[in-house]
Amino acid sequence: MQTWRNLLKKSISTVTDLPLELRPNQERINKVIKQYPMRINSYYLGLIREKNDPLWKQAVPDIREIQDQVCMPDPLGEEDLSPVPNLIHKYPDRVLFLVTSQCAMYCRFCTRKRKVGTSEMAITKKTIRAGLDYIRQTPQVRDVLVSGGDPLLLDDEILDWILSSLRSIPTVEIIRIGSRAPCTLPMRVTTRLVKILKKFHPLYINTHFNHPDEITPEASLACTRLADAGIPLGCQTVLLRGVNDHPETMQELMRKLLMIRVKPYYLFQADLTLGTDHFRTPIETGLKIMKSLIGYTSGLGVPTYAVDAPGGGGKIPLTPNYVQKLGDQLMFTNYCDQTCIYKNAKK
Ligand SMILES: *Cc1c(COP(=O)(O)O)cnc(C)c1O
Ligand code: SF4
Repeated sequence: MQTWRNLLKKSISTVTDLPLELRPNQERINKVIKQYPMRINSYYLGLIREKNDPLWKQAVPDIREIQDQVCMPDPLGEEDLSPVPNLIHKYPDRVLFLVTSQCAMYCRFCTRKRKVGTSEMAITKKTIRAGLDYIRQTPQVRDVLVSGGDPLLLDDEILDWILSSLRSIPTVEIIRIGSRAPCTLPMRVTTRLVKILKKFHPLYINTHFNHPDEITPEASLACTRLADAGIPLGCQTVLLRGVNDHPETMQELMRKLLMIRVKPYYLFQADLTLGTDHFRTPIETGLKIMKSLIGYTSGLGVPTYAVDAPGGGGKIPLTPNYVQKLGDQLMFTNYCDQTCIYKNAKK
């Protein structure tokens, strides 16, 4: 069996499997796990330094997950936007195609918490075929985001089948894979996998790192292999209370991502997902972090801060305000608060 399969098999899924010093002290935590599964593989477990640290918070269940009175099970209205199960068609030219319910770790803040890793997310070859049929019959779809769950948790052969089926559809221009495996189980990125992936260019991968401690030699090797295969790498970080909600943490994360050839793509405001309210920060926190990045670090290391509109409206970019109207002139403020007046051109 491959190393990554072995690691995954030995994942921790109950509180009593956790080392004593990492166990949450609440008693009813088993109730949380019953509703929202726990999976921490030994690689990610090894990165946790201590209880309550930023990696621990992402991985270990919290009683607040079942006490949330604020959020909604499906805040992005994904179920209503699915013409066939497990395929979300929200934007004119692209779809989100869910091909597995499994992940290398179940992140406590997950937007699809209502179903990842549970029987609520029934994905079979049949549902995948139905998704492929929809894409084939919908020629305005030119960009397919293969997601889940984590598509890289599928076996090489299944992934090969899905990607080659997509590539055989002439109207599909680009394929993207959304995967947290380079962060949570980097040994999944084997040379064999990469050999398969590179057959399907133009192929993009958006991965998901949230904290500088996740950028390890193993993660770096996984990203090197993917980048060397010509796959452009992006990162979709989620802004999380107590994990990465300080400017210094985010600056370090963005710089370290660029060092492993991953371009920060989105910084997401945490969604209003039931069971995750304790992870949300005010929008002001995100704007302050953006202000600490723009101008202070490489433009390459500045993601787009976005909130995914509740109800399915799509992603809305949020930017600190650098422009003020003064009559028919504009006043610009730069990153370090110097202003200049700009005479606008006539319409
Ligand atoms: C995020 C998302 C996309 C892709 O959006 P981009 O801004 O192109 O990255 C597509 N479909 C759905 C349903 C999404 O949530
Ligand atoms: S890897 Fe992604 S889909 Fe899976 S639990 Fe984490 S956030 Fe959710």
